[in-house]
Amino acid sequence: MIELGMPTRRPRVSRQVMVGGVPVGGGAPVSVQSMTTTPTHDVNATLQQIAELTASGCQIVRVAVPTQDDADALPEIARKSQIPVIADIHFQPRYVFAAIDAGCAAVRVNPGNIRKFDDKVGEIARAAGDAGVPIRIGVNAGSLDPRLLEKHGKATPEALVESALWECSLFEEHGFRDIKISVKHHDPVVMIAAYRRLAARCDYPLHLGVTEAGPLMQGTVKSAVAFGVLLAEGVGDTIRVSLSAPPVEEVKVGIGILESLGLRQRKLEIVSCPSCGRAQVDVYRLAEEVSAGLEGFPFPLRVAVMGCVVNGPGEAREADLGVASGNGKGQIFVKGKVIKTVPESRIVETLIEEALRLAEEQPQ
Ligand code: SF4
Repeated sequence: MIELGMPTRRPRVSRQVMVGGVPVGGGAPVSVQSMTTTPTHDVNATLQQIAELTASGCQIVRVAVPTQDDADALPEIARKSQIPVIADIHFQPRYVFAAIDAGCAAVRVNPGNIRKFDDKVGEIARAAGDAGVPIRIGVNAGSLDPRLLEKHGKATPEALVESALWECSLFEEHGFRDIKISVKHHDPVVMIAAYRRLAARCDYPLHLGVTEAGPLMQGTVKSAVAFGVLLAEGVGDTIRVSLSAPPVEEVKVGIGILESLGLRQRKLEIVSCPSCGRAQVDVYRLAEEVSAGLEGFPFPLRVAVMGCVVNGPGEAREADLGVASGNGKGQIFVKGKVIKTVPESRIVETLIEEALRLAEEQPQ
């Protein structure tokens, strides 16, 4: 084998916590989470969004708990959600106890803005320990503990890590170690430095996130770069992509990042060329229509959609299914062999038919 110098994932040895039925850390597969955008006290809307997230592949969901009405909604949401629910608590330690009593699978606290948090750690540790509920210590650059902001001048990697480990030490004093940590920053470079530092200094499982990453395109690029670097180094046990976009998009991007790193088996992969002056077919349209027609395909399938005969036959032959286009026609490949040639207008429907036929042949 030729050594290409690519980083390989050597999982960092982290302890494991259970978020409901989902193991996080300790060598468990990296899980994908998101957060609802509905008012949590609107139970029906929140459960509806959780159902959509579950269908998109989300494994853990977080809900914000800013008011008593939201805290009151937690028991029903925790009971009816198909995936583990994490309560996200800022400012009010009493909601932490409400979330534990409500049956939430975990609680996220932000040490920077829970009033009198340090004084309450003993009580929280006892309640969480008795209920078997892990705590995420979620440090965020935008709400760093004022004491550390003053000490470090701004939210540096050192400041983020110091905040997280300080809070961990308070829990550890009470014998509580059922913890996972995040140290989020909007700048991937700072975020990567913070997580590397944190990973070297503790064995808690790490929740990766680039906070306030931006709209879909920018947030996807930032998260893919930051998570890609860290996960390739074996750092990171669960991920949340933060986007100014519907949460289902966060899940799709998160799953795509894991698939691209080989940390999760890819289902549908479209290998399509970028098109160029040689293209004899509208590659963009073909790739879009084939992607849309096969969205949610339940088995691993690589489909090559190529614009001409330069690389077309080669890529199409390597894929499970493919088309090499030219002269208003498409040569359809299945498992490396040309099975037919169809007019351009029938390329998409033929690829979809063949994909469904391959699916039927899958062992059940
Ligand atoms: S496959 Fe053909 S059309 Fe597509 S980029 Fe390559 S040369 Fe251009």
